[in-house]
Amino acid sequence: MGNKLDSHTIMYGVFGDPIRHSKSPIMLNRAFEETGINAAYAAFHILPGQLKDAVAGIRALQFRGVNVTIPHKVEVMDYMDEIDESARVIGAVNTIVNDNGRLTGYNTDGIGYVRSLKEETGIDLKGKKVLMLGAGGAARGVGYALAKEGASHIYISNRTVEKADELAETLSGFTSTSGMGTDRVADVVDEVSLIVNITPAGMHPNVDTVPMDTSLIKDHLVVSDTVYNPLVTKFLREAKERGAVIHPGLGMFIYQGAYAFEYWTGVPAPIAAMRQVVEQSFTK
Ligand code: NAP
Repeated sequence: MGNKLDSHTIMYGVFGDPIRHSKSPIMLNRAFEETGINAAYAAFHILPGQLKDAVAGIRALQFRGVNVTIPHKVEVMDYMDEIDESARVIGAVNTIVNDNGRLTGYNTDGIGYVRSLKEETGIDLKGKKVLMLGAGGAARGVGYALAKEGASHIYISNRTVEKADELAETLSGFTSTSGMGTDRVADVVDEVSLIVNITPAGMHPNVDTVPMDTSLIKDHLVVSDTVYNPLVTKFLREAKERGAVIHPGLGMFIYQGAYAFEYWTGVPAPIAAMRQVVEQSFTK
């Protein structure tokens, strides 16, 4: 059953290029249906050079909210009236809230990741050391949220060491951090409570790749992957075999959408229904 569309329907959408693969429309429309909100959410293919006009369209057409994805997350910051601290530190906006023509940019990727991690594993991050594998755009969000959650030290390992050092410097305003090359993972792995992969290693079609030597993983660890295609990566399968608690990447996607939904509507997101419809779409 679809949402009822009439003259009162409030519009939402996602801007990206490419965009036809996006699971956000099925997930958010299911959330509106479940909560009985008269709204509709569509995917908009916004080509390079057209983003400014598209954002003007949010105001002109009185969309209540928009998600922004690759490649527009950075440029869109130029067109906001206000930028939340999360998006400012991360350097990217993935959620826009329209308050009567005034647009505020947020980033819900990192906080979505942490909420999913806590709800699915029960981990309390306060005072814990963590190891992040990767220092790209998603790692910026995850690192910011882990620091805000009270992680006592964040090790950032990356193929390009300069990027790890740069992210460590950015996050040092929020907690203790260090950047390093991938060759240093073995030196710190026994100190940490959580390891999270934020590289594309293991993502379809490279499903046999792992982001680190999994023989280093011990059974006291929580091991998390932001990759969600496949839903359980080789990294997580091997971590589970070694006794670790695992946390798959789909939760990050679900909860970044859940936070956007809550910012827009003020209504708690119907997580179970959102997850169900996205998981179903993967098995089709
Ligand atoms: P990005 O900005 O392009 O950064 C990619 C990161 O992965 C960089 O640190 C890069 O290292 C590293 N990397 C890339 N290829 C590698 C390889 N072959 N070996 C080792 N390291 C490699 O991408 P991103 O936006 O941060 O996304 C990273 C991953 O996060 C994505 O692939 C996706 O699976 C996941 N993600 C998940 C969600 C979710 O909702 N679950 C959302 C966003 C992203 P260099 O700096 O050396 O290039």
